[in-house]
Amino acid sequence: MIAALACALILAKWAAQLWLGRLNQQHVEANASAPPEALKHIMDGQTYAKSVQYTLAKGRLDRISITWHTALLLVVLFSGVLPWGYHIFIQRLGESAWAQAAFLFVTGVVLSLADLPLDWYEQFRLEERFGFNTATQKLWWTDRLKGLALALALGYPLLVLVLKLVEWTGDWWWLCAWGAVLGFQLLMVVLAPALIMPLFNKFTPLPEGSLRDRLLALAERTRFRAASVQVMDGSKRSRHSNAFFTGFGRFRKIVLFDTLIGQLVEPELEAVLAHEIGHFKLKHIPKILAAAALGGLGGFWLLASLARAPWFYRAFGFAPGKVAVALLLFGLLAGVVTFWLSPLANWWSRRYEYQADAFAAKTMNEPHSLTGALRKLNEKNLSNLTPHPAYSRFYYSHPTLLEREEALGRS
Ligand SMILES: [Zn+2]
Repeated sequence: MIAALACALILAKWAAQLWLGRLNQQHVEANASAPPEALKHIMDGQTYAKSVQYTLAKGRLDRISITWHTALLLVVLFSGVLPWGYHIFIQRLGESAWAQAAFLFVTGVVLSLADLPLDWYEQFRLEERFGFNTATQKLWWTDRLKGLALALALGYPLLVLVLKLVEWTGDWWWLCAWGAVLGFQLLMVVLAPALIMPLFNKFTPLPEGSLRDRLLALAERTRFRAASVQVMDGSKRSRHSNAFFTGFGRFRKIVLFDTLIGQLVEPELEAVLAHEIGHFKLKHIPKILAAAALGGLGGFWLLASLARAPWFYRAFGFAPGKVAVALLLFGLLAGVVTFWLSPLANWWSRRYEYQADAFAAKTMNEPHSLTGALRKLNEKNLSNLTPHPAYSRFYYSHPTLLEREEALGRS
């Protein structure tokens, strides 16, 4: 019964994803001959045709990836391979928190190995074909190894701690575990920009000159104190461009990709920075962190309830009682429920994007620099200018270019 329900949820997500992908594909194909009237001035015909091809190629790869992951999840959950592997681990290593955490970690690593072929194809075939890839094979594989080392150094001890808390704190373990995970996440928000991101990219302060003067003047004007504007060598992996905001308090910094600096003129870069400062000034980051923390609390409560229910284990071939097993099953299945919440999360994220856009336009006293920046970003990244509305509701955390331009026109 429970197994059938889990199976139905997995298949429902799979069907919804394929259906959304198909809707989007048809919508893009219907608009393929010419860009919509309002977007004519943004891309020339050749670039628009290329963006359509890029969108369709990514869609095809997505559909393969969705089906591959669904099949993998069904096999992992229902073939008996997990109870079999767990049994071997426990026989060899015992039932300590360290041993059980090792089982979870190894399962996670094995599952992520299944992503490698599609990830590799995406970078070195798809992105390559459209001129975005700049990564070498060596860099790509080094990134994977660094990611694995980080997971071992940070993720494994956190798993052990959570399982130790189950032993130490009894019925209330889930509240303590939630606190521990939350503390770890906050620590990462502070430490990642200083300690982890430099392992993958080089960050240099924006060099002296008119751009730096302009951006510092903007920081002054918006009272964005302790600001540091850094340039990241994003071009080492891809020609895609971006800007983001990271860190907390004194550690906060604004990061511009070197690719972005190459694509935009100074007022446009100022508008992008003003948008990022808008996120900060409007306290979007602590609000998102608070919501994530509340979601995490609900998640741990649910996990603890399931961990007490014998039927949850039996449905997937395990003997009841081990929280580590419940944690693994919960982790594998969480996505089939949270997927349906993504329109809500995206709706919320878009509201913040509109607010940050409005902040930027107000700070700049004109919306044109930001509009200019957004148009170039959409053009250079070959963004899909005509996503299907249902598809964008599920997958787009940012409004489309047209939506943002309309909102900027009203403000
Ligand atoms: Zn934003």
